Amino acid sequence: MKAIRRFTVRPVLPEPLRPLSDLARNLRWSWHTETQQLFQAADPEGWRPADADPVRLLGAVSAARLAELAGDQHFLRRLTEVSEDLRAYLGGPRWYQDQLSGGAELPAAIAYFSPEFGVTAALPQYSGGLGILAGDHLKAASDLGVPLIGVGLLYRHGYFRQSLSRDGWQQEHYPVLDPNELPLTLLREADGTPSRVVLALPGGRSLYASVWQAQVGRVPLLLLDSDVEENAPGERDVTDRLYGGGSDHRLLQEMLLGIGGVRAVRTYCRLTGHAAPEVFHTNEGHAGFLGLERIRELAEAGVDFDAALEIVRAGAVFTTHTPVPAGIDRFERQLVARHFGDDGELPGVPVDRILRLGMETYPGGEPDLFNMAVMGLRLAQRANGVSTLHGSVSREMFSGLWPGFDPSEVPITSVTNGVHAPTWVAPEVLRLGALTVGSERAEDALAGAGGGRADRTGGGAGATPRRWDAVTGVPDREIWDLRRGLREQLVAEVRKRLYASWRRRGAGTAELGWIDGVLDPDVLTIGFARRVPSYKRLTLMLHDRDRLRDLLLHPTHPIQIVVAGKAHPADDGGKRLVQELVRFSDDPKVRHRIVFLPDYGMGMAQKLYPGCDVWLNNPLRPLEACGTSGMKAALNGCLNLSVRDGWWDEWFEPDFGWAIPTADGSATDEERRDELEAGALYSLIEDRVAPRFYDRNAQDLPERWIEMVRRTLVTLGPKVLAGRMVREYVERLYAPAALARRALEPATARELAAWKARIRAAWPQVAVDHVEASADTVVGGSAELGSTLALRVRIALGGLDPDDVEVQVVAGRVDSGDAIAEAQTFPLKPAGGHDLEDRWLYEGPLALDRTGPYGYTVRVLPSHPLLASGAELGLVAVPNAATVDGGGVLLR
Ligand SMILES: *Cc1c(COP(=O)(O)O)cnc(C)c1O
Repeated sequence: MKAIRRFTVRPVLPEPLRPLSDLARNLRWSWHTETQQLFQAADPEGWRPADADPVRLLGAVSAARLAELAGDQHFLRRLTEVSEDLRAYLGGPRWYQDQLSGGAELPAAIAYFSPEFGVTAALPQYSGGLGILAGDHLKAASDLGVPLIGVGLLYRHGYFRQSLSRDGWQQEHYPVLDPNELPLTLLREADGTPSRVVLALPGGRSLYASVWQAQVGRVPLLLLDSDVEENAPGERDVTDRLYGGGSDHRLLQEMLLGIGGVRAVRTYCRLTGHAAPEVFHTNEGHAGFLGLERIRELAEAGVDFDAALEIVRAGAVFTTHTPVPAGIDRFERQLVARHFGDDGELPGVPVDRILRLGMETYPGGEPDLFNMAVMGLRLAQRANGVSTLHGSVSREMFSGLWPGFDPSEVPITSVTNGVHAPTWVAPEVLRLGALTVGSERAEDALAGAGGGRADRTGGGAGATPRRWDAVTGVPDREIWDLRRGLREQLVAEVRKRLYASWRRRGAGTAELGWIDGVLDPDVLTIGFARRVPSYKRLTLMLHDRDRLRDLLLHPTHPIQIVVAGKAHPADDGGKRLVQELVRFSDDPKVRHRIVFLPDYGMGMAQKLYPGCDVWLNNPLRPLEACGTSGMKAALNGCLNLSVRDGWWDEWFEPDFGWAIPTADGSATDEERRDELEAGALYSLIEDRVAPRFYDRNAQDLPERWIEMVRRTLVTLGPKVLAGRMVREYVERLYAPAALARRALEPATARELAAWKARIRAAWPQVAVDHVEASADTVVGGSAELGSTLALRVRIALGGLDPDDVEVQVVAGRVDSGDAIAEAQTFPLKPAGGHDLEDRWLYEGPLALDRTGPYGYTVRVLPSHPLLASGAELGLVAVPNAATVDGGGVLLR
């Protein structure tokens, strides 16, 4: 029978066990082994490591067991210890509290907005890498003491759960998540009523949302939920699913996330006394409307649009995560216009100004679309990609927004992603470190170079954590036993999951005896798990099936492969790839050596990375912005076998694994490219990877392999930490953003906006009129190394003042087309005023300090102390052909 009402009966914990409830509600348990062990001890049968959830566990423990625990002195002692540890973690100063930036205080708070957060399997609010990264960002911020407030949406169905039909077609399920059964608390007003956030929608409708709070260590995470009684049925469903629905639905979600999110932060700060954020970080374009809400707040306080824009930009950081156009949100202009029109949200903010912020004003841009990434870049003075390579791809991709500048000067930097080690390192690997270091603080060290004060003695906050070096001394045998143990655990986990999957696919238990023989704990194990967009090429390994079969069934050097991944529900192409892979691995000839596991998620991932020997990644370069699964694998001593894309392009070394050669520049035809890259992959496995794995010494140990594992842990490990990433965000983006924001009181912002307007208006008249160089330095097209060119140029400033601009020589090696590579810039100085036509004389030396084809040019840029980059306004004046009389030089 079906219940007509459903509610949650909360357990009443006996007094001595009360602290368990706090431990369950702070998600720090998800990366703190001792807390997990405590819950496991409370109910050994109820604890399911893959989707552990203390809140659910406490709800299910019998009253008798609770009574027993309340009298168990040993348990109570452990409970006191673990509670005390959490209290100390939450209370004391950490890395952040000791930092200053140029003598100034770091931001009092930072709001971090993301459409998804992957904190733990117990709070399934993520689809893949973007969400996991956001979760790791919060955790590392907590470990470092960074005062972050996370902001997202609470999706009633999360993403989706994946299973397979008999013939291998992806099936999607959307189990309902009841927030009362999740590790969340409802944000309430002082009088106990639930707080509400309200947005005005066209046609006089309103969108209400409640705010749930998850506590991620020291960091609060606010999740907006539209499933509240005040809403009409359509509005109730706004937060139904992550990445579901059409563009109207997506727009409402993003309005709620961005605009509602700022309101939720304000409410949270008002109720708790938390400091107001000085910096707003937009993790990918989806949350970009937050900038508009901040403009509205300022408008309400009497600040005009242009000044407000300056203030908002100064305190904003935008991170772009994808070079794949389909990954960027674009809405019909009309749709956006309707929602921000007269009877819509954001009164006081002119809709035409909003529309201009998202306009693709570059060649090839679509005039009828509103681009969230473009708006993100315009609303943030600081922006970044997520690996060095992705930074340069992003500068190229968005260079149309800064016309006249080389892509290398586009103001988008990069901060390479990292992963939160305490979440992703298997307890067994952690013990390897802890044992040798003899320290209880191994987890803190793992959090990223001294998460706690206790570690600072070990070389300061920037030094390599001691734990990593300690692995150097661990004997080969110990490392190998550990690797085998992890592989064995994975084999057991795979069989269990495969069995469950086949039962769902309709197989009877009697048919499934073969599963006991699936995978072998002594065979080289390769993992491949990720979402299934086409650029990640799930099925590249199937390119030559016979060759793959030979590798799997090799008589002396066999491999085995574990594959997992969800295709987006609307992506039939992706589902076909899943099906191809499933069908291949269903074949009785190979099914003991290759498996597809449905429902990839954090719980599975935590077993998969440590259990694999090799982590495979074969995206179409350069479309993988960073990729983080290979980092998590590396932290567990798994070697990477990957195309040099994302982070692997940056940190690949032969000690850490293998680079699959890519045919990106040479093969334009995708089929041909797949063929070349798949061929290279097979050869690498056959000739290099497998032989090294099976090459055993007199002690039956693969010495050289073990050495690679050690190098991966010791040298690569410290780089891939989320702690390193968050420190970079603090030092390079959050701190400068807070300073820029503090410099902009409304009056200053108004001046800055007026200055920009004046510059823009005058710019068409700014010109480099005449360039001349000392005649005797360059003779017959060549000059001597070490000589100096004396430059004199005349600049038309169109009524601007010399203080408004910087005049620069740009010089460097030139290619056959006279393009300057690796340009260096030197300022020229105003000399002797201007002539009757308002042309100003500038002078300066150019030292010729490198041989070969060399060239220079002169340019004028706007200059103001409050600009973060000379390219910020996208304005530059360069000589036109008529004013140049041969600037190129050849140095001999
Ligand atoms: C790390 C992780 C990802 C992201 O992996 P990529 O290598 O960036 O594709 C996706 N899903 C889960 C569950 C993860 O843990």
